[in-house]
Amino acid sequence: AKSEGRGRLRTFDAAMDARLRERYALAAELREAIPRGELSLHFQPQIAAPTGEVVGFEALVRWHHPTRGLVPPAEFIPLAEENGLVLQLGEWVLARACAEAATWERPYKVAVNLSPVQFQSHDLPETVWEILLATGLAPARLELEVTETAIIDDMDRALNILRRLKNLGVTIAMDDFGTGYSSLATLQAFPFDKIKIDRSFVSRLESQPQAASIVRAVLGLGRSLGMGVVAEGVETHAQMRFLSAESCDEVQGYLFGRPMPARDIPELRRGGDAL
Ligand code: C2E
Ligand code: CA
Ligand code: CA
Ligand code: CA
Repeated sequence: AKSEGRGRLRTFDAAMDARLRERYALAAELREAIPRGELSLHFQPQIAAPTGEVVGFEALVRWHHPTRGLVPPAEFIPLAEENGLVLQLGEWVLARACAEAATWERPYKVAVNLSPVQFQSHDLPETVWEILLATGLAPARLELEVTETAIIDDMDRALNILRRLKNLGVTIAMDDFGTGYSSLATLQAFPFDKIKIDRSFVSRLESQPQAASIVRAVLGLGRSLGMGVVAEGVETHAQMRFLSAESCDEVQGYLFGRPMPARDIPELRRGGDAL
């Protein structure tokens, strides 16, 4: 039994070792991904719920790995956050998204996700400003999506950075709302323009009564704080009917469009009209 145990331990060690080496290799390749042009952006439409009009697009990063194929951001963003690479990656995403949006014929907004790590760097507002200047994108067309984890670590510092960002004229959305520990007080203290209800609540709307109560509560919260509310991950007409009936401001999800390269989105095709 003893030797068997040791055998299992050795197998476990070996598996652990392989996983670590795999992560290490992936991290090294990620470092090369930007200069090699392996990263790209997909854009997903954001729709004004009352009118059905497209009002903006969220930029979502994609890594086209030469041998592994498409690596999902859920796999490489955490890796990039661990080794600081996310600063470089995040700056690339911002610059790319703003440059892309600046070419659109219609003044749609572009929403860009910020990692909490980017929030720790004090010169984030300067970086954003330089990118806006370089691309010529009107600040009001840029929306930055930040998560609760970015602000709860050091609230004073986060508030300072958020205010400086707001002073540039960009808007700020609180992303993945409901998945963390934000209190009413936190939300009130920060100058968010929008709250994004996390997909996990939207997807449970039809199956769990509590999810409907939570979504209603967030919509009420948004109304009382003067913040718009966006529901993400809307996939069904039933979900959309609920959100419309509850006066949700904006919706985003597969029901309206999957994230796609800008060239494949009819509304963004240059020269041509939508439809
Ligand atoms: P997120 O910010 O919550 O983005 C929404 C995710 O839900 C995206 O996954 C999107 O493709 C997916 N989604 C949208 N509509 C639907 C739907 O109707 N049904 C379902 N099942 N999924 C839907 P994606 O692109 O894989 O990104 C995952 C996460 O990776 C994002 O979650 C975000 O946290 C992070 N991420 C993506 N791009 C960036 C980036 O450029 N920078 C940073 N820091 N994080 C990013
Ligand atoms: Ca987001
Ligand atoms: Ca989310
Ligand atoms: Ca997110």
